[in-house]
Amino acid sequence: MQLNNDEIRRYSRHLILPEVGLAGQKKIKAASVLCIGAGGLGSPIAMYLAAAGIGKIGIVDFDTVDYSNLQRQILHTDADVGHSKAESAKETIRGINPNVEVVIHNTRISSENALDLIRPYDIVVDGTDNFPTRYLTNDACVLLKKPNVYGSIFRFEGQASVFAPHLGGPCYRCLYPEPPPPGMVPSCAEGGVLGVLPGIIGCIQATEILKLAIGKGTSLVGRLVLFNALDLKFRELKLRKDPACPICGEHPTIKELIDYEVFCGIEPVKEEKNAGEVTVQEMKKALDDPKLGIKVIDVREPFEYEIAKIEGVPLLPLSQLQQRFTELDPNMQYYLLCKVGARSQSAAEFLREQGFKYVKNVKGGTNAWADEIDRSLPRY
Ligand SMILES: [Zn+2]
Repeated sequence: MQLNNDEIRRYSRHLILPEVGLAGQKKIKAASVLCIGAGGLGSPIAMYLAAAGIGKIGIVDFDTVDYSNLQRQILHTDADVGHSKAESAKETIRGINPNVEVVIHNTRISSENALDLIRPYDIVVDGTDNFPTRYLTNDACVLLKKPNVYGSIFRFEGQASVFAPHLGGPCYRCLYPEPPPPGMVPSCAEGGVLGVLPGIIGCIQATEILKLAIGKGTSLVGRLVLFNALDLKFRELKLRKDPACPICGEHPTIKELIDYEVFCGIEPVKEEKNAGEVTVQEMKKALDDPKLGIKVIDVREPFEYEIAKIEGVPLLPLSQLQQRFTELDPNMQYYLLCKVGARSQSAAEFLREQGFKYVKNVKGGTNAWADEIDRSLPRY
């Protein structure tokens, strides 16, 4: 591994750091990193790793760029909206440093392809936003003995660690043996996230990757860093390897990748569930024709109602439903609405448990309404 004169110039501020030096920069160039997700965390990670001279960066993302991504996903620009995130990431990385080999995997990582995707890389970085992919990434990394540089963000808080049982540390399952019940932990799309937060957590992840590559410093193996942006506070927890961990413990029971959707309690969409759903077109019919006797209720929070409200649809936030459901008539027909259809689904299930007979969830929520019925309604 050699550096040419252009590279020596480019990386000069690294080369004059005794901890990095020419030897360290060559190690950085020799390293390959697979970045799972080219979103909020993936953006600063990929951009800083590219600038720092990581030789090969793989990007796994099947998604396309949406306007709501631009508040934090700085890999992508306004002109990329509607285009592939992986392609857009490649373009940005090549613009930062043409010496980097960028390999894009425009696919959803799954139990079928995860081992093949990860195997050729030295280090894996978790920039995912959902539990099935996070457990999948963890298990695949443990099985292949690859360091898994973990980060996660929500609202104003984030956390980061390095999971590497083969280096003596714990894995993600040692920390979180069970996934939260489905619907319990809202996603960033439902709960929001401060735009700069992935910048901070992603930069911590990128720092750990560079340290792993050069083999210097004290890594986050065995430590979890917690960050709160509102109070600007960092905390640190010591993590121990769980001897009973089903994948990295003394008697592992997981020896190959499993079905992570099932593990996380996410059931495949069933016919029966569809029966409890209506489209935004059906919701419009209900609003246009009061004789149908169907009432539409918005279960979002008041601040969301302020951003985008639909005329004639009253608010009863999901957070107040347990106390206030008695205001509703269990024999009436209700269509429940939220932003994308997940919270209204939980609200419908709750009301059915309380004996409501005719409750349906509006599929796609206000965003579907904005796409299909009224383009003047803000999509957020
Ligand atoms: Zn473990």
